[in-house]
Amino acid sequence: MRIRMLAATLLLIGSPIGVPTTRFPAWWGESAWQTAVMRQPAAVSLVIANGIVITVDGGRRILNPGSLAINGTDIVAVDTPANIAARFKAADTIDATGQVVMPGLINTHTHAAMVMYRGLGNDLALMDWLQKYIFPAEAKTVSPEFVRIGTRLAALEMIQSGTTLFADMYYFEEEVARVTKAAGLRGVLGQTVIEFPVADAKTPAAALQRSERFAKEFAGDELITPSIAPHAVYTLDAKTLTAVSELAKRLRIPIQIHLAETSAETGMSQQRHKMRPVAILDSLKFWAPVTIAAHAVWIEPDEIALLKQHSVGVSNNPESNMKLSSGTAPVMGYRKAGVNVGIGTDGAASNNDLDMFEAMRQAAFQQKLITMDPTAISAPEALEMATIGGARVVGQQTRVGSIEVGKRADVIVVGMSKARQTPLFDPVSQIVYASRGDDVETTIVNGKVLMRNRKVLTLDEARVLSDAKAAADQVRKAVR
Ligand SMILES: [Zn+2]
Repeated sequence: MRIRMLAATLLLIGSPIGVPTTRFPAWWGESAWQTAVMRQPAAVSLVIANGIVITVDGGRRILNPGSLAINGTDIVAVDTPANIAARFKAADTIDATGQVVMPGLINTHTHAAMVMYRGLGNDLALMDWLQKYIFPAEAKTVSPEFVRIGTRLAALEMIQSGTTLFADMYYFEEEVARVTKAAGLRGVLGQTVIEFPVADAKTPAAALQRSERFAKEFAGDELITPSIAPHAVYTLDAKTLTAVSELAKRLRIPIQIHLAETSAETGMSQQRHKMRPVAILDSLKFWAPVTIAAHAVWIEPDEIALLKQHSVGVSNNPESNMKLSSGTAPVMGYRKAGVNVGIGTDGAASNNDLDMFEAMRQAAFQQKLITMDPTAISAPEALEMATIGGARVVGQQTRVGSIEVGKRADVIVVGMSKARQTPLFDPVSQIVYASRGDDVETTIVNGKVLMRNRKVLTLDEARVLSDAKAAADQVRKAVR
C-alpha cells in the first residue's frame, strides 16, 4: 500500500498540469480512494470553453472544438470540451462557441506613446519625416505626463486589437512600464539612448544611467522586461554603442535597436563609422544574449549569417517600411538561414495604427509580392511570426507565444461571425487574411481578463480618449 501511495504521489507530481489524470499504470488496481480522486474536478480560475483553439504549438494543433483551463497565471490544460468539463471546476467560464481562441499577438517593435503623433507629417521619407516633424514635435512635447497619456492610448488600442506583448523603444520608459502594468499588458520596454539632448536625458551618459536605474527598478517583474534601446548606428558613436552593449550584458537585459532601416542609414553608417550598420556593430561585439533588430531591411546575405551566428532576432515592420518607402526586409532569407523573425507595427506615427492583424497580413502579402511567389509566407507562417516567432525574437518563447500547458495564459478570443469572415473553411486563413483587430472579443494576459466582450476592464476608455485629445493640442502647437 505504501508503495502504491508513493507511486500515486510521483504520478501526480509528474503530471504536467499538477492534477490527477487517467494515466495510471495498467497493473494498478482501482481503489476507492483512486476513484474518488479521479472524479473530483480540480478548481481553476478560468475555462475558455468550446472554441476553435489554434494553439501554434510545435505540432500546430487546432482543436475544433477545444477548451482550455487557466489557473492563476498559467494554462493548465488544453483538451476537448468534454474532457475539460469533466476535469475542472472553473470560477469563471468564457463561452467561445464559434470563435477562435489563439495566442495573443506579439508586437516586436513599436513606440507606444507615439500614437500621440498619429497622422502627423504623412507621405514623407523617413529622414525628412523624422527631422521635420517627429524630432521637433518630440522636443517640445515629450514629458512624463505626455508619455503616460500616450501609452495609455496605445495600451487601449493594443488590448482592443489582441496584442498581449509589445516591445517598446521610447523615453521615460519607467512611465511606460507603470502604465503597461496597470493596463495588464506584457512589455519588453527599452529606455532610449540617443546622442542629441532629449526630454529625459541631456547626454548619452545620462541615458545610460537612466537605463540602469530603470532596469533595476523593474528587474524580475512578472509583466515588464526592462531593456535598453540604442536608437540606431547613425545617431550614436562607437563609444556609446559599446557602453550600451556592456550595460546590457552586465544587467542581462535585451537590446533593441533600429538596424539598417533605410538605404540612407547605410550611407550614413558608412560615412560615420566607415562600415555598414551590421559590420560596425559586429566589430564592437555589440550583440547581447537577446538583441532585437528592428526593420533590418538593407541587409546582405553575409550579414544574415552574422545575425544568425549571434542569435539576433529581427522585427519585420512591413507597414511602416511600405509607408515610408524604406524597402522590404529579406524575410525569406532570414527564414532560410534560421534567423528568428517576428512582426512589428512600428510607432503609430508611421503605420498609422497598432493593429497586429493588419501587420500580419501585410507581412505575408509583401513577401509574396517581392518574391513573385504566392507560396512565400503562408497564412500559418504569418500567424507563427506574429505569435511564437515574436516570442522567440524577444527571448520569451518558453513563457508565451503559443497555447501550451505550462505557459502563461496570454490568450485572445476572436469573433468569427462578421460578413467578411463568412463562410469559415480554414480558421488560420480567416485570422490572417480576413480578420481585424476589432474582431477580438476578449483579451487575456497572464491569466487576467483585460477585455471581455469588447469591454476593456483595466482602463477607463472614455477618459483615455479624452486625455489624449486634450494632450494633442500640445502637438498641434509644437508643429505650427
Ligand atoms: Zn521604430
